[in-house]
Amino acid sequence: MKVTEHIEKSKGKTQFSFEILPPLKGQNIDSIFNNIDPLMEFNPPFIDVTYHREEYVYKEQENGLLQKKIVKKRPGTVGICAAIQNKYKVDAIPHVLCGGFSKEDTENFLIDLDFLGIDNVMALRGDAVKSEIYFKPEEDGHNYASDLVSQIENLNQGNYLDEDLANTSTTNFCIGVAGYPEKHMEAPSLESDVYFLKKKINKGADYIVTQMFFDNQKYFEFVDKCRKEGITAPIIPGLKPISTKKQLNLIPHRFKVDLPDDLVMAVVKAKDNKAVRQIGIEWCIAQSKELIKKGVPFLHYYSMGKSDNIKSIAKEIF
Ligand code: FAD
Repeated sequence: MKVTEHIEKSKGKTQFSFEILPPLKGQNIDSIFNNIDPLMEFNPPFIDVTYHREEYVYKEQENGLLQKKIVKKRPGTVGICAAIQNKYKVDAIPHVLCGGFSKEDTENFLIDLDFLGIDNVMALRGDAVKSEIYFKPEEDGHNYASDLVSQIENLNQGNYLDEDLANTSTTNFCIGVAGYPEKHMEAPSLESDVYFLKKKINKGADYIVTQMFFDNQKYFEFVDKCRKEGITAPIIPGLKPISTKKQLNLIPHRFKVDLPDDLVMAVVKAKDNKAVRQIGIEWCIAQSKELIKKGVPFLHYYSMGKSDNIKSIAKEIF
């Protein structure tokens, strides 16, 4: 079922959903199931599965020279989606990236998803590979998520890359895209970022999931701004509980989001990571309660592959 249909069906009640990461190469599917199992009692209508593009690693050879190797540390997004739909009978939402994909690769990827009965996809540009500063598309790949949305929407109309294909069938993907309450890190202003977000919606995206934020006011202002710009699609808040002291530096650096002073100082003064974890859970519960009061359609939690703290939050909320 489509995310937009889940929202309609719930008649205004906030629902629970979460995102998982494929495990590191070498682990089996049980490592995923072990983290999903404890969260199923909160009835998530869908589970997102992130996509991780290849990385370049340099391995020293016997002659001392470095050999560049391309590795994919977290493969398996499509297989995990199939396994989730099969085992839990809930919608699995694969993330689909521009990065690392030509248009042809994308089309074939989408065909696989369609054959598997996947109804939703999250269309994203992806970040630059770790060894590069700026995002570079593949030759004949997409530069921006809005172009990827167009390709998915074309397939929904039965328009494949090969215009000579006759009697093509249509796909029926519901398309999610990313939104950034504190603006995307490369965007020169929130204004321009929302302008391009609207472009993704105009090209066929159906709903928005936000980057994590720790101050609900940022989300409320973002929603107001989007509505003023004529974006009417549902805007699902993405939440992540802090769980380690290290994240105080890592989150602003990696995601360019602000952490409120009260949260920062509580974490700074915490005696160990067990205490930080509890602070993160309580902060996230308070955020969740306020967001529910405002009638958000979903609370979408970034589990980062660990279910225990999300479970502690969901127990208080759902
Ligand atoms: P875009 O919408 O293409 O925007 C990228 C930047 O370009 C923005 O600054 C935007 O303002 C600007 N822009 C857009 N269109 C134009 C234009 N036409 N001209 C000029 N500028 C333009 N990454 C992964 O690798 N795997 C994942 O699974 C994943 N899941 C995510 C899930 C969510 C909910 C979110 C919020 C992010 C996720 N990301 C993931 C990270 C995401 O890939 C990065 O944030 C990436 O840098 C931007 O992706 P986007 O889809 O928002 O890009």
